[in-house]
Amino acid sequence: MKIYNSLSGEKEIFKPIHEGYVGMYVCGPTVYSHVHLGNVRTFMSFDMIYRYLKHLGYKVRYVRNITDAGHLENDADEGEDKITKKARLEEIEPMEVVQRYTVDFHNILNTFNFIPPSIEPTATGHIIEQIELIKTIIDNGFAYLVNGSVYFDVLKYNETNNYGILSKRKVEDLIHNTRELDGQSDKKNPQDFALWKKAEPQHIMRWPSPWSDGFPGWHLECTAMSTKYLGDHFDIHGGGMDLKFPHHECEIAQNQAAKGITPVNFWMHANMLELNGQRMSKSTGNIINPRELLSGDNNIMSKAYSPEVIRFFMMQSSYRSILDLTDPGLSASEKGFYRLLDAVNSLENLPTSTSSSMDVSAWKQTCYNAMNDDFNTPILIANLFEAVKFINQVKDEKARLTKEDLALLKETIHAFMFDVMGLRNTNSIDETGNTDKLSATVQLLIKLRQEARDNKDFALSDQIRDELDELGIQLNDGKDGTSFSL
Ligand code: AMP
Ligand code: ZN
Repeated sequence: MKIYNSLSGEKEIFKPIHEGYVGMYVCGPTVYSHVHLGNVRTFMSFDMIYRYLKHLGYKVRYVRNITDAGHLENDADEGEDKITKKARLEEIEPMEVVQRYTVDFHNILNTFNFIPPSIEPTATGHIIEQIELIKTIIDNGFAYLVNGSVYFDVLKYNETNNYGILSKRKVEDLIHNTRELDGQSDKKNPQDFALWKKAEPQHIMRWPSPWSDGFPGWHLECTAMSTKYLGDHFDIHGGGMDLKFPHHECEIAQNQAAKGITPVNFWMHANMLELNGQRMSKSTGNIINPRELLSGDNNIMSKAYSPEVIRFFMMQSSYRSILDLTDPGLSASEKGFYRLLDAVNSLENLPTSTSSSMDVSAWKQTCYNAMNDDFNTPILIANLFEAVKFINQVKDEKARLTKEDLALLKETIHAFMFDVMGLRNTNSIDETGNTDKLSATVQLLIKLRQEARDNKDFALSDQIRDELDELGIQLNDGKDGTSFSL
């Protein structure tokens, strides 16, 4: 399998540090407002990557944090904490803001059928680890203290290391590129970044430290939490493209300065979702809330779209391409998704033959080839549509398929559509995913009924059929098994 590594700018063969195991860290949301669909896209890209790694049999420890402190306005080192600001405006506690938007974030991800990460640590839960890291960086000579705040000394670090290794920027060029407010900074150089900030009297989210009552810099939490759970050197670190600099560049510098090693083998960056040709972003207001897209209650789209259609739309482009969210684009995805789903559902009743006119094993391999080429979901989907064409030919008796090949085709399509891409087999899913669960439950009852029949326990098999019938669920026995209708 090859993965595009932002560090080298090339697709590289993926080899985990410990055979069979993968450690993956992805920067999570700052929970001060609703997630927008752009955020969802980045997390969905990594959900797909997580799913595929698991599908390949890796034991994956997937860590995705919640930023609940330390992230200041404009991603700068001065100014108000994003969460505190929201708390002030709404006259509630900062932790109420955190709770509200963490719950909202989880609800949205559930709607889109995400698999939860293995660990979801918070910045406020790891203040001690962050303080310990700062102590080490100071001891190693790469940070300095001014007026109770601690800053990372970029020029000093760059004498023996390469600050800019990931973003390909030059330290000299960075001076004009920093978002400092004139005269407000204690920094020796504008390139330096905060590891610890002394809290102003009005700053509520504060903790004691050897330097001052204050709070950690935004970049530090990810270094502390990724290495705590994945080790000082781990396999994959991901995030949105916009985090490459300064956030990820700073993470590399912090780890290198504290531990003398680079933290990550593969840096992966997901590309941006755009709306009307412009990046979706909270700061410009060019956003769409996922719920507005699901309910149709917005001025941008002509109708509502289901979570499956939105997910399918996102999977139709590579995670490394910019994607523009448009009504015609979603509408085309909707048609495509249901065409695919129709073919998948018709597999249940497809006639079989003594020979196949398609090499299903070779086709299956093309699906793996697509995914093994840096998770190329658009090519995977094109391959699935090849299978749709073939399935429709079999339906029209213009092509043949053996029973074994039918089973292989079904297994492969199910694996890639549902396990890897995280789609669900239903036309209308409510927010809790109940329809999907109902379908799985009825399939289980069909299986138990078949077992009863095999054991000649016809009283039980009839009871299952009759009681389902009373609930409005009809079982239909065909020559290729039993299907059900509501
Ligand atoms: P934030 O909560 O602003 O820190 O963002 C959470 C994640 O969403 C980060 O990984 C960002 O890179 C990502 N993100 C923000 N805007 C977009 C966008 N328009 N498209 C895709 N990802 C985005
Ligand atoms: Zn991060």
